[in-house]
Amino acid sequence: MSSRRIDHYLRALVSEDRFDFYAAVRDFADAEVAPHLLGWERDHVLIPDEVIAKMAELGLFGLPVPESFGGQGGDHLDLVLMGLALGYHSQCAAITPGAAVSLGIKPLLLCGNEAQKAAHLPDLAAGKRMFVFGLSEPGRGSDAANPQVTATRDGADWIIRGEKCWSTNAHWASHVVVHAMTDPEAPNGKRSTCFIVPMDAAGVHYQEMAGKRVWEQSSTGSIVFDSVRVGAADVLGEVGGGFKVMVTTLNGGRLFIAGLALASLAFALDRCCRYVQEREQFDDLPIGRFQRVQDVILDMDIALEQNLTWLMHCCDLYNADRLDREQAAKVKIASSRQASELLGAAMEICGGVAGLDEFGLIRHHNDLFVTRVGEGSNLALKSQCCRPLLGEIKNILQ
Ligand SMILES: Cc1cc2nc3c(=O)[nH]c(=O)nc-3n(C[C@H](O)[C@H](O)[C@H](O)COP(=O)(O)OP(=O)(O)OC[C@H]3O[C@@H](n4cnc5c(N)ncnc54)[C@H](O)[C@@H]3O)c2cc1C
Repeated sequence: MSSRRIDHYLRALVSEDRFDFYAAVRDFADAEVAPHLLGWERDHVLIPDEVIAKMAELGLFGLPVPESFGGQGGDHLDLVLMGLALGYHSQCAAITPGAAVSLGIKPLLLCGNEAQKAAHLPDLAAGKRMFVFGLSEPGRGSDAANPQVTATRDGADWIIRGEKCWSTNAHWASHVVVHAMTDPEAPNGKRSTCFIVPMDAAGVHYQEMAGKRVWEQSSTGSIVFDSVRVGAADVLGEVGGGFKVMVTTLNGGRLFIAGLALASLAFALDRCCRYVQEREQFDDLPIGRFQRVQDVILDMDIALEQNLTWLMHCCDLYNADRLDREQAAKVKIASSRQASELLGAAMEICGGVAGLDEFGLIRHHNDLFVTRVGEGSNLALKSQCCRPLLGEIKNILQ
């Protein structure tokens, strides 16, 4: 019987079958990720290919893909449960299949045509192919509706020029879904189109982004498009519907990111509970007897139960196609913010040892930064979430 606090909550929140799936991925992470994590970190290497291959064998890359295309026929809750199970040890281990599915496969599932699905889904589900999400650019982050990457018509083809960055999984990618400006004169939100571009197409240049000190075992690439030619069959969704493809994808992606934040919080809670019972100070008694230490422990426990319950509810709404954009954003904002704040407090109640990599908290502390900024910066998302409450308020500086 697992002593993890998160398992106690999940048992009450999901069906037995779902819990069994979560437990299988948890056991995989205990055996194949946890023992090697410190070595990968100290050697500054990405998640090894053989671990990714084992994830593929478990079917993790095909979770929400219909069985008719070789997938597991699951749904978004399965994906989030996988993130909770892998992310407990390492957000990087979780985001590798997580982004491959929630940012790679999902746009195709949600917006692709039958020919595109038939051409790609079986290999994507088997982990033999990987799509990456090309939304962010050096000059376009939060203002993603207006990409500087362009696609211009050349007869029946399109020519793509510009640069994408921050593309998770670029190192393993077979294709990138590129969000490109196609009609700057069209109304906002209808100016762009998405294209499926093979990474080995002439004019595509990838390089791993240097100097990244968060999500260190996850690949993050910059991809340059030097007059890359693609055909009409490579358009994903409608011409002019590129931003819709991206935004629809991000709704589900934000639930996955919320799950990663809670996985880190769950790890920190268990780690602290153990440590404050072992560590003795003053009269050789455990530091867990101090009420200020207990305060932090209980705040973590409350935040975990509260946000996990909310997240499971959001997954159900998503699966029923009833989750709106603000709900997806809010659960990410709350989970990542609270987990980040509490990780700082968690480290403080453990003292100096918390600054050592082998203690396990510093990696979660650092990686939580990505959950606040990735898939929409929390502060930018707050502006969006306020709109249904306050309507459009003109910025007095404009
Ligand atoms: C490790 C990692 C992996 C990533 N993976 C991917 C990926 O796979 N694919 C992809 O396309 N992108 C990816 N991203 C990019 C991520 O989505 C962007 O970092 C994010 O959208 C924010 O964009 P930005 O960093 O350019 O910040 P900017 O847009 O420059 O914003 C900077 C800050 O300004 C403030 N701000 C901006 N706009 C507003 C606003 N409207 N209201 C209030 N405040 C605002 C916020 O504080 C914000 O954090 C990844 C990022 C990281 C760090």
